Amino acid sequence: MVHVYGPHIFHTNDAEVWEYVNGFQRFMPYKNQVKTTSRGHVYSLPINLHTINQFFGKTFRPDEARAFLERQADKSITDPSTFEEQALSLVGRDLYEAFFKGYTEKQWGCSPTKLPASILKRLPVRFNYDDNYFFHKFQGMPENGYTDMVGQILDHPNIEVQLATKYRRSDRLDAIHIFYSGPIDGYFDYEDGRLGYRTLDFERFHFDGDYQGCAVMNYGDASAPYTRVTEHKHFSPWEEHQGSVCYREYSRACGPDDIPYYPIRLVEEKALLAHYVARAEREKGVTFVGRLGTYRYLDMDVTIREALDTARHYLPRAAARGHMPSFLEKAIAC
Ligand SMILES: Cc1cc2nc3c(=O)[nH]c(=O)nc-3n(C[C@H](O)[C@H](O)[C@H](O)COP(=O)(O)OP(=O)(O)OC[C@H]3O[C@@H](n4cnc5c(N)ncnc54)[C@H](O)[C@@H]3O)c2cc1C
Repeated sequence: MVHVYGPHIFHTNDAEVWEYVNGFQRFMPYKNQVKTTSRGHVYSLPINLHTINQFFGKTFRPDEARAFLERQADKSITDPSTFEEQALSLVGRDLYEAFFKGYTEKQWGCSPTKLPASILKRLPVRFNYDDNYFFHKFQGMPENGYTDMVGQILDHPNIEVQLATKYRRSDRLDAIHIFYSGPIDGYFDYEDGRLGYRTLDFERFHFDGDYQGCAVMNYGDASAPYTRVTEHKHFSPWEEHQGSVCYREYSRACGPDDIPYYPIRLVEEKALLAHYVARAEREKGVTFVGRLGTYRYLDMDVTIREALDTARHYLPRAAARGHMPSFLEKAIAC
């Protein structure tokens, strides 16, 4: 029940994907309520009416808060091109510095003035007291954990699992087709360079009792070196535990021996990606899938949706010995 690769919450609007995962595991109700510590205070995220009222010491109603925030927004920025400009134009300097600046610097290891505005697409604020981190219709946690769920998926007579066995392009597999979910640059032995990723270091610690009273506590100040602390027993509120396993999470550039977590996807990486995509398109008998195969951040539900679509695309072609492309269109378009 402790999430080794960082906390994972299953959330989706996709009814078919929800039904699919529920076929392998009972999902328990779970609502992700994230808090953040900033300048000695604890606030609710995403920024909502409670956060605004607490932060500015007000008792605004929704319309008042909306009007107030419009006055906070920096109207001199008409065409924001960076993350910082976008945030300033949407929420103004005070909220930006308390909730976005330090966190983003730690997460991405660079100034928000170097990141594209597209990271923050719309106003990241709710003018009510809804503190559910996700908007999705279906949200939950697998009752016996993800390891058990994936174990159930793999428990099929046609599936053989070989652990600790790295697939290499030079391997001659007795396969009609390969679906490759490893890193696209790794497939080509990084011959033309490495795509940039952020990796995470998890510092595990134990606590006797309840350490922070919630599953996720972000740290927005640049002075705290970690981005968040996660307390895993709160991800399974239906269980009872006296002891507690927690992690401090640190973000840094991914080295060759680290686990790649978040694709960076800035201008430089996109150019190298285009190069590898062109090479991959010339490969025969292999389709690149998943977050590493297509170098995108994908939530679990999207990964499963794309896997189901890929299978649907492939099966009739396999039966008719038709051509299967190296990417499904959606994967390259993003
Ligand atoms: C910190 C963090 C938190 C996240 N939280 C959430 C969340 O709350 N909710 C959510 O929906 N999603 C979350 N995600 C996203 C989620 O992890 C991804 O959607 C999911 O892992 C994608 O599955 P995948 O199969 O594409 O990739 P992966 O799960 O990475 O699987 C790829 C596998 O391929 C293996 N592999 C690599 N190269 C080779 C090779 N050459 N040969 C053989 N095997 C190889 C890898 O070891 C790995 O096991 C989070 C991601 C991160 C990084």
